[in-house]
Amino acid sequence: MIRKIIFGITCFSVIAVKAQVMSLPTDDALKVDYPSSFEPKAGYPIAEKLASYKRIKLESDLSKLNEGEKKALGFMIEAAKHADNIFWMQSYGNKDSVMSRVKDENLKQFMLLNYGPWDRLNDDASFVKGIGEKPAGAGFYPKDMTKMEYDSIYGQSPVDANTIVLRNPEGRLEQRPYFMVYQQEITELSMNLMRASEAVGPQSGKDADMELSQFLRMRAEAIMMNGYQPSDIEWLKLKKSNLDIIIGPIENYEDKLNGVRNAFEAYVLIRDKDWGSKLDKYISFLPELQANLPVDSIYKSEKVNNSGSQLAVFDAVYYAGDCNAGSKTIAVNLPNDEQIQKEHGTRRSQLKNVMRAKFDNMVVPISQMVIDPAQRASVNFDAFFNNVMFHEVAHGLGIKNTIDGKTTVREALGANYSAIEECKADVLGLYMVTQLVDKGELSGKLEEYYVTFTASIFRSVRFGASSAHGRANMITFNTLLNAGAIVRQSNGTYKVNVDVMKKTIQKLAGELLVLQGNGNNDAVTEYLATKAIVPSALGKDLDKINKSGIPVDLIFEQGKSVLGLE
Ligand SMILES: [Zn+2]
Repeated sequence: MIRKIIFGITCFSVIAVKAQVMSLPTDDALKVDYPSSFEPKAGYPIAEKLASYKRIKLESDLSKLNEGEKKALGFMIEAAKHADNIFWMQSYGNKDSVMSRVKDENLKQFMLLNYGPWDRLNDDASFVKGIGEKPAGAGFYPKDMTKMEYDSIYGQSPVDANTIVLRNPEGRLEQRPYFMVYQQEITELSMNLMRASEAVGPQSGKDADMELSQFLRMRAEAIMMNGYQPSDIEWLKLKKSNLDIIIGPIENYEDKLNGVRNAFEAYVLIRDKDWGSKLDKYISFLPELQANLPVDSIYKSEKVNNSGSQLAVFDAVYYAGDCNAGSKTIAVNLPNDEQIQKEHGTRRSQLKNVMRAKFDNMVVPISQMVIDPAQRASVNFDAFFNNVMFHEVAHGLGIKNTIDGKTTVREALGANYSAIEECKADVLGLYMVTQLVDKGELSGKLEEYYVTFTASIFRSVRFGASSAHGRANMITFNTLLNAGAIVRQSNGTYKVNVDVMKKTIQKLAGELLVLQGNGNNDAVTEYLATKAIVPSALGKDLDKINKSGIPVDLIFEQGKSVLGLE
Protein backbone atom coordinates (compact mmCIF):
# COMPACT_ATOMS: atom_id res chain seq x y z
CA MET A 1 0.00 0.00 0.00
CA ILE A 2 1.30 3.41 -0.88
CA ARG A 3 0.51 5.93 1.77
CA LYS A 4 -0.71 9.16 0.32
CA ILE A 5 0.78 12.37 1.49
CA ILE A 6 -2.33 14.31 2.30
CA PHE A 7 -0.75 17.52 3.38
CA GLY A 8 1.97 19.44 1.62
CA ILE A 9 4.90 20.71 3.58
CA THR A 10 4.32 24.34 4.11
CA CYS A 11 5.15 26.62 6.92
CA PHE A 12 2.44 26.37 9.50
CA SER A 13 1.68 27.19 13.05
CA VAL A 14 1.09 24.44 15.54
CA ILE A 15 -1.40 26.64 17.34
CA ALA A 16 -3.48 27.21 14.21
CA VAL A 17 -3.75 23.49 13.63
CA LYS A 18 -4.63 22.92 17.25
CA ALA A 19 -7.65 25.20 16.91
CA GLN A 20 -8.97 23.23 13.93
CA VAL A 21 -8.86 19.87 15.68
CA MET A 22 -12.03 19.10 17.50
CA SER A 23 -11.70 18.45 21.14
CA LEU A 24 -12.10 14.90 22.39
CA PRO A 25 -11.36 13.95 25.98
CA THR A 26 -8.98 11.01 25.81
CA ASP A 27 -10.38 8.94 28.68
CA ASP A 28 -13.84 9.04 27.10
CA ALA A 29 -12.53 7.89 23.77
CA LEU A 30 -10.77 4.95 25.35
CA LYS A 31 -13.68 3.91 27.57
CA VAL A 32 -11.37 2.23 30.07
CA ASP A 33 -12.91 1.30 33.41
CA TYR A 34 -10.19 1.48 36.03
CA PRO A 35 -10.51 -0.16 39.42
CA SER A 36 -10.80 2.45 42.19
CA SER A 37 -7.45 1.23 43.40
CA PHE A 38 -4.84 -1.13 41.95
CA GLU A 39 -3.68 -3.92 44.27
CA PRO A 40 -1.12 -6.65 43.56
CA LYS A 41 -2.58 -10.01 42.56
CA ALA A 42 -2.16 -12.51 45.41
CA GLY A 43 0.74 -14.87 44.80
CA TYR A 44 2.26 -12.95 41.86
CA PRO A 45 5.97 -12.50 42.67
CA ILE A 46 6.14 -8.79 41.78
CA ALA A 47 9.11 -7.90 43.98
CA GLU A 48 11.07 -10.86 42.65
CA LYS A 49 10.21 -10.06 39.02
CA LEU A 50 11.15 -6.42 39.51
CA ALA A 51 14.49 -7.47 41.00
CA SER A 52 15.23 -9.58 37.90
CA TYR A 53 15.71 -6.36 35.91
CA LYS A 54 18.95 -4.47 36.26
CA ARG A 55 18.58 -0.72 36.83
CA ILE A 56 21.03 1.41 34.86
CA LYS A 57 21.45 5.11 34.12
CA LEU A 58 21.20 6.26 30.50
CA GLU A 59 24.13 8.64 30.22
CA SER A 60 26.41 9.96 27.51
CA ASP A 61 29.24 12.43 27.04
CA LEU A 62 27.48 15.77 26.46
CA SER A 63 30.69 17.81 26.32
CA LYS A 64 30.70 17.71 22.52
CA LEU A 65 27.29 19.42 22.36
CA ASN A 66 27.00 23.19 21.96
CA GLU A 67 24.51 25.28 23.92
CA GLY A 68 21.88 25.14 21.16
CA GLU A 69 22.14 21.37 20.99
CA LYS A 70 21.88 21.01 24.75
CA LYS A 71 18.70 23.10 24.69
CA ALA A 72 17.33 21.03 21.80
CA LEU A 73 18.15 17.86 23.71
CA GLY A 74 16.01 19.04 26.63
CA PHE A 75 13.07 19.74 24.31
CA MET A 76 13.47 16.38 22.59
CA ILE A 77 13.21 14.66 25.97
CA GLU A 78 10.06 16.67 26.72
CA ALA A 79 8.61 15.61 23.36
CA ALA A 80 9.48 11.98 24.14
CA LYS A 81 7.54 12.16 27.42
CA HIS A 82 4.39 12.93 25.45
CA ALA A 83 5.05 9.93 23.16
CA ASP A 84 5.28 7.97 26.42
CA ASN A 85 1.90 9.22 27.60
CA ILE A 86 0.33 8.30 24.27
CA PHE A 87 1.76 4.79 24.42
CA TRP A 88 0.22 4.37 27.86
CA MET A 89 -3.20 5.06 26.32
CA GLN A 90 -2.50 2.72 23.41
CA SER A 91 -1.37 -0.01 25.76
CA TYR A 92 -3.87 0.34 28.61
CA GLY A 93 -5.13 3.76 29.72
CA ASN A 94 -4.31 7.26 30.86
CA LYS A 95 -1.05 7.08 32.81
CA ASP A 96 -1.93 9.72 35.41
CA SER A 97 -5.42 8.31 36.09
CA VAL A 98 -3.95 4.83 36.48
CA MET A 99 -0.89 5.68 38.55
CA SER A 100 -2.89 7.86 40.96
CA ARG A 101 -4.75 4.68 41.95
CA VAL A 102 -1.60 2.68 42.79
CA LYS A 103 -0.28 2.80 46.35
CA ASP A 104 2.06 -0.20 46.59
CA GLU A 105 5.58 0.96 45.61
CA ASN A 106 6.69 -2.30 43.92
CA LEU A 107 3.43 -2.48 42.03
CA LYS A 108 3.93 1.11 40.90
CA GLN A 109 7.41 0.35 39.55
CA PHE A 110 6.28 -2.84 37.86
CA MET A 111 3.31 -1.12 36.20
CA LEU A 112 5.55 1.67 34.95
CA LEU A 113 7.91 -0.91 33.49
CA ASN A 114 5.08 -2.77 31.78
CA TYR A 115 2.94 0.25 30.84
CA GLY A 116 -0.09 -1.34 32.49
CA PRO A 117 -1.16 -4.33 34.58
CA TRP A 118 0.21 -7.14 32.37
CA ASP A 119 3.69 -8.70 32.60
CA ARG A 120 5.26 -8.33 29.16
CA LEU A 121 8.02 -10.88 29.73
CA ASN A 122 5.52 -13.45 30.97
CA ASP A 123 3.06 -13.67 28.08
CA ASP A 124 1.15 -10.62 29.34
CA ALA A 125 0.00 -12.36 32.52
CA SER A 126 -2.08 -10.05 34.74
CA PHE A 127 -0.39 -9.11 38.02
CA VAL A 128 -3.15 -6.86 39.38
CA LYS A 129 -6.11 -8.04 41.46
CA GLY A 130 -9.34 -8.05 39.44
CA ILE A 131 -7.68 -7.37 36.07
CA GLY A 132 -8.28 -10.11 33.50
CA GLU A 133 -6.51 -10.91 30.26
CA LYS A 134 -4.99 -8.19 28.13
CA PRO A 135 -7.17 -7.52 25.07
CA ALA A 136 -5.30 -8.61 21.91
CA GLY A 137 -6.01 -5.22 20.38
CA ALA A 138 -4.69 -3.37 23.47
CA GLY A 139 -6.09 0.20 23.48
CA PHE A 140 -6.56 0.43 19.71
CA TYR A 141 -10.10 -0.99 19.53
CA PRO A 142 -13.39 -0.87 21.48
CA LYS A 143 -13.44 -3.52 24.19
CA ASP A 144 -16.72 -5.01 22.90
CA MET A 145 -15.52 -5.35 19.30
CA THR A 146 -14.94 -8.84 17.91
CA LYS A 147 -12.40 -9.69 15.23
CA MET A 148 -15.32 -10.78 13.04
CA GLU A 149 -17.05 -7.42 13.33
CA TYR A 150 -13.77 -5.67 12.54
CA ASP A 151 -13.07 -7.86 9.51
CA SER A 152 -16.59 -7.35 8.15
CA ILE A 153 -15.87 -3.63 7.89
CA TYR A 154 -12.11 -3.25 7.47
CA GLY A 155 -11.07 -6.73 6.36
CA GLN A 156 -10.91 -5.92 2.65
CA SER A 157 -9.92 -2.28 2.49
CA PRO A 158 -6.59 -0.66 3.33
CA VAL A 159 -6.60 0.89 6.78
CA ASP A 160 -4.69 3.87 8.12
CA ALA A 161 -2.21 2.38 10.59
CA ASN A 162 -2.22 5.61 12.60
CA THR A 163 -5.82 5.49 13.76
CA ILE A 164 -7.69 3.87 16.57
CA VAL A 165 -11.09 2.27 16.06
CA LEU A 166 -13.96 3.68 18.13
CA ARG A 167 -17.66 2.98 18.38
CA ASN A 168 -19.57 6.11 17.46
CA PRO A 169 -22.78 7.19 19.22
CA GLU A 170 -24.83 5.23 16.65
CA GLY A 171 -22.90 2.09 17.62
CA ARG A 172 -20.93 1.81 14.37
CA LEU A 173 -17.16 1.35 14.20
CA GLU A 174 -15.20 4.35 13.11
CA GLN A 175 -11.48 4.99 12.58
CA ARG A 176 -10.13 8.13 14.16
CA PRO A 177 -6.60 9.46 13.51
CA TYR A 178 -4.18 9.74 16.39
CA PHE A 179 -3.86 13.50 16.07
CA MET A 180 -7.53 13.78 17.00
CA VAL A 181 -7.64 11.05 19.66
CA TYR A 182 -4.50 12.16 21.47
CA GLN A 183 -4.88 15.79 20.51
CA GLN A 184 -3.43 17.41 23.61
CA GLU A 185 -0.42 15.10 23.91
CA ILE A 186 0.33 15.36 20.20
CA THR A 187 0.11 19.13 20.24
CA GLU A 188 2.54 19.36 23.14
CA LEU A 189 4.83 16.74 21.61
CA SER A 190 4.97 18.68 18.34
CA MET A 191 5.49 22.02 20.08
CA ASN A 192 8.51 20.59 21.87
CA LEU A 193 9.93 19.32 18.58
CA MET A 194 9.41 22.82 17.14
CA ARG A 195 11.24 24.33 20.12
CA ALA A 196 14.07 21.85 19.59
CA SER A 197 14.11 22.82 15.91
CA GLU A 198 14.43 26.49 16.83
CA ALA A 199 17.20 25.81 19.34
CA VAL A 200 19.41 24.47 16.53
CA GLY A 201 17.91 26.74 13.85
CA PRO A 202 19.38 29.79 12.05
CA GLN A 203 19.02 32.09 15.07
CA SER A 204 21.60 29.97 16.92
CA GLY A 205 24.28 31.35 14.60
CA LYS A 206 27.37 29.19 14.58
CA ASP A 207 25.64 26.64 16.83
CA ALA A 208 23.01 25.98 14.17
CA ASP A 209 22.45 22.55 12.61
CA MET A 210 20.16 23.36 9.70
CA GLU A 211 19.55 19.77 8.63
CA LEU A 212 18.53 18.69 12.12
CA SER A 213 16.41 21.81 12.55
CA GLN A 214 14.60 21.10 9.28
CA PHE A 215 13.99 17.46 10.20
CA LEU A 216 12.62 18.33 13.65
CA ARG A 217 10.19 20.83 12.15
CA MET A 218 9.06 18.32 9.53
CA ARG A 219 8.63 15.61 12.16
CA ALA A 220 6.46 17.95 14.26
CA GLU A 221 4.32 18.58 11.17
CA ALA A 222 4.17 14.89 10.32
CA ILE A 223 2.85 13.94 13.75
CA MET A 224 0.33 16.78 13.80
CA MET A 225 -0.93 15.97 10.33
CA ASN A 226 -0.55 12.21 10.02
CA GLY A 227 1.68 12.28 6.93
CA TYR A 228 5.09 10.76 7.65
CA GLN A 229 6.92 10.17 4.38
CA PRO A 230 8.62 13.57 3.91
CA SER A 231 10.01 13.55 7.45
CA ASP A 232 11.15 9.92 7.13
CA ILE A 233 13.07 10.82 3.96
CA GLU A 234 14.55 13.88 5.66
CA TRP A 235 15.58 11.74 8.63
CA LEU A 236 17.58 9.42 6.36
CA LYS A 237 19.61 12.45 5.25
CA LEU A 238 20.79 13.17 8.82
CA LYS A 239 24.24 11.66 8.80
CA LYS A 240 26.38 14.07 10.77
CA SER A 241 24.21 15.72 13.41
CA ASN A 242 25.30 15.22 17.00
CA LEU A 243 21.68 14.67 18.01
CA ASP A 244 18.99 12.45 16.59
CA ILE A 245 15.49 11.42 17.58
CA ILE A 246 13.23 8.60 16.50
CA ILE A 247 9.71 9.60 17.47
CA GLY A 248 6.16 8.87 16.42
CA PRO A 249 3.89 5.88 15.80
CA ILE A 250 6.47 3.32 14.61
CA GLU A 251 6.02 -0.40 15.29
CA ASN A 252 2.81 -2.44 15.21
CA TYR A 253 3.62 -5.24 17.70
CA GLU A 254 1.33 -3.81 20.39
CA ASP A 255 -1.68 -4.42 18.13
CA LYS A 256 -1.77 -8.19 18.49
CA LEU A 257 -5.32 -8.34 17.11
CA ASN A 258 -4.45 -7.21 13.59
CA GLY A 259 -0.74 -6.39 13.68
CA VAL A 260 -1.50 -3.14 11.93
CA ARG A 261 -1.80 -0.15 14.23
CA ASN A 262 1.38 1.67 15.16
CA ALA A 263 2.37 2.38 18.73
CA PHE A 264 4.07 5.58 19.83
CA GLU A 265 7.65 5.52 20.95
CA ALA A 266 10.73 7.72 21.07
CA TYR A 267 14.47 7.28 21.28
CA VAL A 268 16.56 10.39 21.98
CA LEU A 269 20.05 9.76 20.65
CA ILE A 270 23.58 11.19 20.66
CA ARG A 271 25.74 10.21 17.71
CA ASP A 272 29.07 8.41 18.17
CA LYS A 273 31.02 9.98 15.30
CA ASP A 274 34.23 8.02 15.84
CA TRP A 275 32.38 4.85 15.17
CA GLY A 276 30.73 6.23 12.07
CA SER A 277 34.09 6.84 10.42
CA LYS A 278 35.43 3.39 11.39
CA LEU A 279 32.42 1.85 9.74
CA ASP A 280 32.96 3.75 6.51
CA LYS A 281 36.41 2.22 6.37
CA TYR A 282 35.17 -1.35 6.84
CA ILE A 283 32.41 -0.91 4.30
CA SER A 284 35.01 0.07 1.71
CA PHE A 285 36.49 -3.46 2.01
CA LEU A 286 33.22 -5.12 1.00
CA PRO A 287 33.97 -5.67 -2.73
CA GLU A 288 37.28 -7.33 -1.89
CA LEU A 289 35.69 -9.49 0.81
CA GLN A 290 32.93 -10.53 -1.58
CA ALA A 291 35.51 -11.59 -4.18
CA ASN A 292 37.33 -13.68 -1.55
CA LEU A 293 34.24 -15.53 -0.25
CA PRO A 294 35.05 -19.23 0.27
CA VAL A 295 32.68 -20.54 -2.42
CA ASP A 296 32.54 -21.23 -6.19
CA SER A 297 32.56 -18.07 -8.25
CA ILE A 298 29.01 -18.64 -9.49
CA TYR A 299 27.77 -18.01 -5.91
CA LYS A 300 29.62 -14.74 -5.52
CA SER A 301 29.23 -13.07 -8.88
CA GLU A 302 26.77 -10.42 -7.67
CA LYS A 303 28.07 -6.98 -6.86
CA VAL A 304 27.89 -6.14 -3.17
CA ASN A 305 25.23 -3.64 -2.48
CA ASN A 306 25.37 -1.83 0.77
CA SER A 307 24.20 1.50 -0.56
CA GLY A 308 20.62 0.90 0.54
CA SER A 309 21.31 0.59 4.21
CA GLN A 310 23.10 3.00 6.49
CA LEU A 311 24.71 1.98 9.74
CA ALA A 312 25.03 4.48 12.55
CA VAL A 313 26.12 4.31 16.17
CA PHE A 314 24.51 6.28 19.00
CA ASP A 315 24.22 6.50 22.73
CA ALA A 316 20.57 6.47 23.71
CA VAL A 317 19.73 8.97 26.45
CA TYR A 318 15.95 8.54 26.59
CA TYR A 319 13.56 5.72 25.74
CA ALA A 320 9.81 6.35 25.74
CA GLY A 321 6.69 4.34 24.98
CA ASP A 322 6.76 1.07 23.07
CA CYS A 323 10.56 0.61 23.04
CA ASN A 324 10.75 1.22 26.79
CA ALA A 325 8.08 -1.34 27.70
CA GLY A 326 9.44 -4.59 29.13
CA SER A 327 12.58 -5.64 27.25
CA LYS A 328 14.81 -2.97 25.74
CA THR A 329 15.85 -2.81 22.10
CA ILE A 330 19.57 -2.43 21.31
CA ALA A 331 19.27 -1.65 17.59
CA VAL A 332 16.57 -0.26 15.31
CA ASN A 333 16.22 -0.49 11.56
CA LEU A 334 13.92 2.23 10.19
CA PRO A 335 11.81 3.58 8.53
CA ASN A 336 9.28 0.76 8.16
CA ASP A 337 7.55 2.34 5.17
CA GLU A 338 8.23 -0.11 2.32
CA GLN A 339 8.07 2.49 -0.39
CA ILE A 340 10.72 4.56 1.38
CA GLN A 341 12.82 1.45 1.98
CA LYS A 342 12.81 0.73 -1.74
CA GLU A 343 13.59 4.26 -2.85
CA HIS A 344 15.76 5.59 -0.03
CA GLY A 345 16.91 2.59 2.02
CA THR A 346 16.93 2.35 5.79
CA ARG A 347 19.14 3.26 8.70
CA ARG A 348 20.20 0.68 11.23
CA SER A 349 20.92 2.52 14.48
CA GLN A 350 23.06 0.67 17.02
CA LEU A 351 22.53 1.92 20.57
CA LYS A 352 25.98 1.48 22.00
CA ASN A 353 25.52 2.39 25.67
CA VAL A 354 22.52 0.06 25.97
CA MET A 355 24.46 -2.71 24.22
CA ARG A 356 27.25 -2.09 26.71
CA ALA A 357 24.82 -2.41 29.62
CA LYS A 358 23.44 -5.68 28.26
CA PHE A 359 26.98 -6.93 27.68
CA ASP A 360 28.20 -6.05 31.19
CA ASN A 361 25.12 -7.32 33.00
CA MET A 362 24.22 -10.36 30.92
CA VAL A 363 26.92 -11.56 28.53
CA VAL A 364 29.77 -11.26 31.06
CA PRO A 365 28.04 -13.11 33.92
CA ILE A 366 26.80 -15.76 31.46
CA SER A 367 30.35 -16.21 30.15
CA GLN A 368 31.52 -16.77 33.72
CA MET A 369 29.19 -19.74 33.89
CA VAL A 370 29.71 -21.31 30.48
CA ILE A 371 33.13 -20.35 29.11
CA ASP A 372 36.34 -22.17 29.99
CA PRO A 373 38.02 -20.22 32.85
CA ALA A 374 41.22 -19.78 30.81
CA GLN A 375 39.28 -18.04 28.00
CA ARG A 376 36.96 -15.81 30.03
CA ALA A 377 39.31 -12.85 29.77
CA SER A 378 38.81 -12.96 25.99
CA VAL A 379 35.17 -11.92 26.35
CA ASN A 380 35.16 -8.17 25.81
CA PHE A 381 32.81 -5.40 24.72
CA ASP A 382 34.72 -4.31 21.61
CA ALA A 383 34.54 -7.85 20.25
CA PHE A 384 30.83 -8.07 21.13
CA PHE A 385 30.07 -4.74 19.49
CA ASN A 386 32.14 -5.53 16.39
CA ASN A 387 30.51 -8.93 15.98
CA VAL A 388 27.07 -7.28 16.00
CA MET A 389 28.26 -4.61 13.56
CA PHE A 390 29.82 -7.05 11.13
CA HIS A 391 26.69 -9.19 11.28
CA GLU A 392 24.80 -6.17 9.94
CA VAL A 393 27.37 -5.38 7.26
CA ALA A 394 27.48 -9.05 6.23
CA HIS A 395 23.82 -8.97 5.21
CA GLY A 396 25.12 -7.04 2.18
CA LEU A 397 27.55 -9.84 1.16
CA GLY A 398 26.78 -13.03 -0.73
CA ILE A 399 23.93 -13.75 -3.08
CA LYS A 400 20.46 -12.25 -3.48
CA ASN A 401 19.22 -14.15 -6.56
CA THR A 402 19.28 -17.90 -7.14
CA ILE A 403 21.97 -19.10 -9.56
CA ASP A 404 19.39 -20.31 -12.10
CA GLY A 405 18.42 -16.65 -12.42
CA LYS A 406 14.74 -17.46 -11.93
CA THR A 407 13.95 -15.80 -8.63
CA THR A 408 15.31 -14.19 -5.48
CA VAL A 409 16.71 -16.24 -2.62
CA ARG A 410 14.05 -14.70 -0.39
CA GLU A 411 11.25 -15.91 -2.62
CA ALA A 412 12.73 -19.34 -3.19
CA LEU A 413 13.14 -20.04 0.55
CA GLY A 414 9.92 -18.42 1.78
CA ALA A 415 9.42 -18.83 5.53
CA ASN A 416 12.84 -20.50 5.84
CA TYR A 417 14.63 -17.49 4.38
CA SER A 418 15.11 -15.44 7.55
CA ALA A 419 16.78 -18.19 9.59
CA ILE A 420 19.28 -18.95 6.80
CA GLU A 421 19.90 -15.28 6.05
CA GLU A 422 20.50 -14.47 9.76
CA CYS A 423 22.86 -17.43 10.00
CA LYS A 424 24.68 -16.24 6.88
CA ALA A 425 25.08 -12.80 8.46
CA ASP A 426 26.48 -14.31 11.68
CA VAL A 427 28.94 -16.51 9.84
CA LEU A 428 29.99 -14.05 7.13
CA GLY A 429 30.30 -11.45 9.90
CA LEU A 430 32.83 -13.73 11.61
CA TYR A 431 34.46 -14.36 8.24
CA MET A 432 34.86 -10.58 7.74
CA VAL A 433 36.30 -10.20 11.24
CA THR A 434 38.76 -13.02 10.49
CA GLN A 435 39.90 -11.46 7.21
CA LEU A 436 40.22 -7.95 8.67
CA VAL A 437 42.11 -9.11 11.76
CA ASP A 438 44.47 -11.16 9.59
CA LYS A 439 45.04 -8.12 7.33
CA GLY A 440 45.80 -5.98 10.38
CA GLU A 441 42.84 -3.68 9.63
CA LEU A 442 40.89 -4.59 12.74
CA SER A 443 42.37 -4.56 16.23
CA GLY A 444 41.92 -7.36 18.73
CA LYS A 445 42.67 -11.08 18.61
CA LEU A 446 40.60 -13.70 16.79
CA GLU A 447 40.24 -15.59 20.06
CA GLU A 448 38.44 -12.56 21.56
CA TYR A 449 35.97 -12.38 18.69
CA TYR A 450 35.31 -16.11 18.64
CA VAL A 451 34.97 -16.60 22.40
CA THR A 452 32.76 -13.51 22.72
CA PHE A 453 30.59 -14.75 19.85
CA THR A 454 30.19 -18.10 21.59
CA ALA A 455 29.26 -16.50 24.92
CA SER A 456 26.70 -14.22 23.29
CA ILE A 457 24.90 -17.18 21.70
CA PHE A 458 23.93 -18.25 25.24
CA ARG A 459 22.46 -14.82 25.87
CA SER A 460 20.43 -14.73 22.68
CA VAL A 461 18.89 -18.19 23.00
CA ARG A 462 18.42 -17.97 26.76
CA PHE A 463 14.63 -17.63 26.54
CA GLY A 464 14.13 -19.82 23.47
CA ALA A 465 15.54 -20.39 20.01
CA SER A 466 12.39 -20.29 17.89
CA SER A 467 12.97 -16.87 16.28
CA ALA A 468 14.91 -16.53 13.02
CA HIS A 469 17.92 -15.28 15.01
CA GLY A 470 17.57 -18.12 17.53
CA ARG A 471 17.46 -20.78 14.81
CA ALA A 472 20.42 -19.14 13.10
CA ASN A 473 22.37 -19.25 16.37
CA MET A 474 21.62 -22.95 16.74
CA ILE A 475 22.85 -23.80 13.22
CA THR A 476 26.15 -22.08 13.96
CA PHE A 477 26.44 -23.47 17.49
CA ASN A 478 25.77 -27.09 16.42
CA THR A 479 28.12 -26.81 13.45
CA LEU A 480 30.92 -25.46 15.63
CA LEU A 481 30.27 -28.12 18.27
CA ASN A 482 30.23 -31.01 15.78
CA ALA A 483 33.44 -29.80 14.19
CA GLY A 484 35.20 -29.51 17.56
CA ALA A 485 35.59 -25.74 17.15
CA ILE A 486 33.87 -25.42 20.51
CA VAL A 487 34.10 -28.26 22.98
CA ARG A 488 31.82 -28.87 25.95
CA GLN A 489 34.08 -30.02 28.76
CA SER A 490 33.24 -32.34 31.64
CA ASN A 491 32.85 -29.38 34.03
CA GLY A 492 30.11 -27.96 31.79
CA THR A 493 32.11 -25.05 30.33
CA TYR A 494 32.87 -24.56 26.67
CA LYS A 495 36.33 -24.12 25.18
CA VAL A 496 36.94 -22.48 21.80
CA ASN A 497 39.59 -23.92 19.49
CA VAL A 498 40.60 -20.91 17.38
CA ASP A 499 42.23 -22.77 14.48
CA VAL A 500 39.37 -25.23 14.06
CA MET A 501 36.84 -22.42 14.39
CA LYS A 502 38.54 -20.43 11.65
CA LYS A 503 38.29 -23.38 9.25
CA THR A 504 34.73 -24.24 10.30
CA ILE A 505 33.55 -20.68 9.67
CA GLN A 506 34.97 -20.86 6.13
CA LYS A 507 33.26 -24.15 5.46
CA LEU A 508 29.92 -23.12 6.96
CA ALA A 509 29.98 -19.84 5.04
CA GLY A 510 30.37 -21.78 1.80
CA GLU A 511 27.57 -24.20 2.76
CA LEU A 512 25.12 -21.40 3.49
CA LEU A 513 25.92 -19.50 0.30
CA VAL A 514 25.36 -22.66 -1.74
CA LEU A 515 22.02 -23.32 0.02
CA GLN A 516 20.95 -19.76 -0.76
CA GLY A 517 22.17 -19.74 -4.34
CA ASN A 518 20.60 -23.10 -5.19
CA GLY A 519 17.30 -21.91 -3.72
CA ASN A 520 16.22 -25.50 -3.10
CA ASN A 521 13.72 -25.14 -0.30
CA ASP A 522 13.45 -28.88 0.42
CA ALA A 523 17.17 -29.01 1.07
CA VAL A 524 16.91 -25.97 3.36
CA THR A 525 13.98 -27.46 5.28
CA GLU A 526 16.01 -30.62 5.85
CA TYR A 527 19.05 -28.56 6.88
CA LEU A 528 17.05 -26.57 9.43
CA ALA A 529 15.36 -29.70 10.82
CA THR A 530 18.71 -31.27 11.63
CA LYS A 531 20.71 -28.19 12.66
CA ALA A 532 18.38 -25.53 14.05
CA ILE A 533 17.70 -27.43 17.27
CA VAL A 534 18.75 -26.95 20.88
CA PRO A 535 20.90 -29.93 21.91
CA SER A 536 19.94 -31.35 25.29
CA ALA A 537 23.24 -30.47 27.02
CA LEU A 538 22.77 -26.84 25.94
CA GLY A 539 19.17 -26.93 27.18
CA LYS A 540 20.49 -27.86 30.63
CA ASP A 541 23.13 -25.10 30.49
CA LEU A 542 20.40 -22.57 29.67
CA ASP A 543 18.26 -23.76 32.60
CA LYS A 544 21.24 -23.24 34.86
CA ILE A 545 21.73 -19.71 33.51
CA ASN A 546 18.07 -18.85 33.95
CA LYS A 547 18.07 -20.00 37.57
CA SER A 548 21.24 -18.11 38.43
CA GLY A 549 19.76 -14.63 38.93
CA ILE A 550 21.46 -13.06 35.89
CA PRO A 551 19.25 -10.08 34.95
CA VAL A 552 16.51 -10.73 32.37
CA ASP A 553 16.59 -7.17 31.06
CA LEU A 554 17.15 -3.51 31.97
CA ILE A 555 15.22 -0.67 33.60
CA PHE A 556 16.43 2.81 32.71
CA GLU A 557 16.95 5.75 34.99
CA GLN A 558 16.85 8.54 32.48
CA GLY A 559 16.02 12.15 31.82
CA LYS A 560 17.39 15.65 32.08
CA SER A 561 18.55 15.31 35.68
CA VAL A 562 20.45 12.09 34.91
CA LEU A 563 22.19 13.98 32.08
CA GLY A 564 22.89 17.00 34.26
CA LEU A 565 20.74 19.21 32.04
CA GLU A 566 18.76 20.74 34.91
ZN1 LIG B 1 20.53 -9.80 10.90
